[in-house]
Amino acid sequence: MTMQSDLQALGEFLRRALLDPARPNQLAISGSEEALTWQQLSLAVMDWVGRYRELRLPPAVPVVLYGHQQAEFAVAIYSCLLHGIPYIPVDCIYPPERLREICTLASAPQYYDVAQREFVSTGIAAKPLEEPDLAYIMFTSGSTGKPKGVQIGRESVWSFMQWVGQDFVLPESPVLMNHAVFSFDLSLIPLLANLATSGHIVLNAKEHIAAENWLDMLSEKGVSAWVSTPSFAYQKLISPRFSAEYLPALKVFVFIGEVLNKALVKQLRRRFPAAKIINAYGPTEATIATTVVEITDAMLMSDSDLLPIGQMMPNSFMEIAPEGELIIWGKNVMRGYLGLDEENAAKLLKRDDSPWRGYRTGDLGYEQDYFYCSGRNDSQIKLNGYRIEISEIEARLLNLPGMQEAVVMPLMKPGGGVLRIAAFCVTELSPNAIKQALAEVIPSYMVPGQILIKENLPLNPNGKIDRKLLDAQARVN
Ligand code: AMP
Repeated sequence: MTMQSDLQALGEFLRRALLDPARPNQLAISGSEEALTWQQLSLAVMDWVGRYRELRLPPAVPVVLYGHQQAEFAVAIYSCLLHGIPYIPVDCIYPPERLREICTLASAPQYYDVAQREFVSTGIAAKPLEEPDLAYIMFTSGSTGKPKGVQIGRESVWSFMQWVGQDFVLPESPVLMNHAVFSFDLSLIPLLANLATSGHIVLNAKEHIAAENWLDMLSEKGVSAWVSTPSFAYQKLISPRFSAEYLPALKVFVFIGEVLNKALVKQLRRRFPAAKIINAYGPTEATIATTVVEITDAMLMSDSDLLPIGQMMPNSFMEIAPEGELIIWGKNVMRGYLGLDEENAAKLLKRDDSPWRGYRTGDLGYEQDYFYCSGRNDSQIKLNGYRIEISEIEARLLNLPGMQEAVVMPLMKPGGGVLRIAAFCVTELSPNAIKQALAEVIPSYMVPGQILIKENLPLNPNGKIDRKLLDAQARVN
């Protein structure tokens, strides 16, 4: 299919799903502060677009959506997708400084305050995006010290939309649990699967998830498909009510975002013997997910410590570079980072024999019947499912007045995975003052849990910073 026919097919699909829904009287969105049937969602989408049009923004100018898990946030996202308005989701877990930074980087003259249901002028001059037909821009942690905007085309969303309805073995008309903030593209799995299946998405604000009766609420709603990072499900195992007995409708777990380990799958098998467990993999730069597999007992019993990440989605292929880096080629690969020519030159590839772009993931892996992901070749980490560039934290620390030197390191758990982030700083500032200053510019999950003030940073015999020694020092403190 050509790009034009993809765009047309997506447009037709969205019009049908949102304006002429198959199940008008069934719930489409519930959870946070209000519930909407598919018919009410149609009306809400039309209302949102009416208000957006009053702004009279030129075409291809992005709109920033700022909020947290409200049904209205989902309405705004669906409206933008339907009407071809490039949007940038930003969750309130990000400090206002980061919101301003993103609005500036994207030349966005307005942001939509979801809680207040109003557009707010940023005072920034509008500049249309150079890339045509973008669906959204998602900002992730950037190694240069600023968030970087991943630009995703509408054709990529269409590829994903077709695939999620087919290969994710979702129950018919699923009730989808979403926990992820909308600025994390994991949330697009339940959001788009909801459209693809005429389902029902249950949104969960942070404070609801923390409440004692949260699992009861999921049970009442009849949640049948769970979509989360493995870390999130792992935390829920603390409750004995996280089991098939209390959540009898739960039939499928979809995991993505970080390594799915065998220990979690084994525990889930005990708690939910009949549920399917799906492992999906993919960076934001390749539109949500790129590979998927249902985990079988044979995979669990295998000698390998790793579970497979699966097989490629249609319209894509995986190249494994000689040094083991996974390179994704396909319709799903981003159009590039917004305004970052150097990073684009380093990460995006072209080939004479392929109409598609390639993306160097930085992930290491191999293929043995399925693809496997075995680690990273850079300093990007995942902590509780959040993607973090260690070098962004370092750059932010070095920007603080009074900071002379700073090194940031993830402390690893014995079996893999990050225990916490530690920062070693040469400065007169106190650890608390550093944490407070960082929290003004980066989300709280990026603020190092441990800050050690040093007189100087130790060097190893090669004259490099002695990271082994620092790691040992952080563990005894
Ligand atoms: P994000 O852009 O936040 O979705 O993070 C993408 C990165 O998370 C990938 O490049 C991988 O390093 C990691 N990741 C995502 N899914 C998986 C998975 N199923 N197994 C292992 N790592 C994963």
